[in-house]
Amino acid sequence: MTTTGVTTHKNFIGGKWVESVSGRTYQVYNPAHKTESVGGFQTSNADDALTAVAAAKDALNDWANTPAPARAGFLFRALEIMGRRADEIAQTITIEEGKPIGDARGEVRRAMNIIEYAAGEGRRMFGYTTPSELPNTVAYTIKRPLGVVGIITPWNFPIAIPTWKIAPALICGNALVFKPASSTPLSAIKLMEVFEEAGLPPGVLNLVTGPGGQVGNALVESPDVKGISFTGSTEIGTELYGNGAKLLKKVQAEMGGKNAVILLADADMDKALGGIVQGAFGSTGQRCTATSRVIVEESVYDEFVNDLIDRTSKLKVGDGIDPSVDVSPLCGQGQYDKVLEYIGVGAEEGANLAYGGHGLIEGDYGEGFYIEPTVFTDVSPDMRIAREEIFGPVLTVFKARDLEDAIRISNSVDFGLSSSVYTRDLTRAFEYINTVETGMVHVNAPTLGGEVHLPFGGLKASGVGQREQGTEAFDFFTETITVYIDHAAAARQQARFI
Ligand code: NDP
Repeated sequence: MTTTGVTTHKNFIGGKWVESVSGRTYQVYNPAHKTESVGGFQTSNADDALTAVAAAKDALNDWANTPAPARAGFLFRALEIMGRRADEIAQTITIEEGKPIGDARGEVRRAMNIIEYAAGEGRRMFGYTTPSELPNTVAYTIKRPLGVVGIITPWNFPIAIPTWKIAPALICGNALVFKPASSTPLSAIKLMEVFEEAGLPPGVLNLVTGPGGQVGNALVESPDVKGISFTGSTEIGTELYGNGAKLLKKVQAEMGGKNAVILLADADMDKALGGIVQGAFGSTGQRCTATSRVIVEESVYDEFVNDLIDRTSKLKVGDGIDPSVDVSPLCGQGQYDKVLEYIGVGAEEGANLAYGGHGLIEGDYGEGFYIEPTVFTDVSPDMRIAREEIFGPVLTVFKARDLEDAIRISNSVDFGLSSSVYTRDLTRAFEYINTVETGMVHVNAPTLGGEVHLPFGGLKASGVGQREQGTEAFDFFTETITVYIDHAAAARQQARFI
């Protein structure tokens, strides 16, 4: 393990970089070179989390009373700084999380888009006015910040996901404690540096690294934290949503996916193949919106499988820092073991391993967590690989009789994040849109991504609480207050109040 000359990073609390209470630290290693440390980080505990909550509470009042257009000024500065540092931040993502540098650059661009969008909201924090049923009365609504909010994020988009929570939360006037995934704290440090340089007042945004069970849980349990925005596994999200609800907190939990593409016989096959391969193997399949299933109309099944294997075999696997690489390593040992275990499960369940299926250990591959892009065909909907989130470069292929059968298979899982259909038939596309059980629906496009000014999130086990991004984000990070003003000179004869 190479740790000499490696920087040990600190928490950011109350505008200062500070060590954890325990003084303990841990190392994070590059997934492409697993003995190379990318840095040391604080192993914080509940005490550190509560210190950060206290700092946020101290900063809250002034920040909440700063006019929203003035708050936007800080975000516009952060946008400019992130633009200037975009390449350095993208490289950090790649050496820490492992994804190809092109994907990392796209992630930074996405983060910049959300900062820009949230900053614009500083002049658009609309309530509404409406005629009152009472005479001489003005009735309207305003938006107020929630207060102190906990931001708990995963490792797979270590810049974009925190930013799409932090930027809307800040513009709405909240003070934040950010707990990033333990695997990707360096990206979080970079994000803090951006906001620090933007001059955000001390305590408005705090960073605490360390285990979720301690730091994250302390945020959920603290009575001073009024809201939690979480992205991660369905298991932790469900637990955290329940715990937060018991304490009457506002919680949003974005969780797993098992996203399916339906490929109908009339589709543009070349376009569909491109979208499916990109959806399944881009970012090594470690996206919540990754394509995990393809459900193919039976008349084109054999032709599709042949073409899919041909395209998959041309993908270049390697260190994501090389711009020509298509599929980079898994994020860490846990992810590597989990994906290989699922590949074993698929083979045991009787699915046909049509391509890949192995960890790569020869030569330079032995330095990282590489797994071949893998395709299972003849998968049936009751198999575990058909139902559970694998979160790696593994695609499962199903045969369907027709659109109705394909939608039944698509909807047969617990998850409901994203989905897609490839067809030239508008009638069938609309039938699909109206019946598929996912929060995001694509037609003739991959299951991936989304635009920052549109809501992002899922149904069923994929999401609970208000959607992220879009105008919904500002609804989550505010409370709506209803105001009635009686401006009559004399007391009115009131009918009845409810
Ligand atoms: P987790 O749900 O375990 O972690 C997500 C975040 O929650 C991390 O910051 C984590 O901290 C924190 N956390 C963990 N336990 C608690 C707790 N008890 N209270 C509060 N916060 C907590 O996901 P993983 O990163 O471990 O990934 C596991 C699997 O989840 C993946 O393989 C994938 O299937 C799925 N996943 C889905 C994502 C999506 O976008 N849909 C994103 C990431 C993962 P820490 O890192 O310290 O454990």
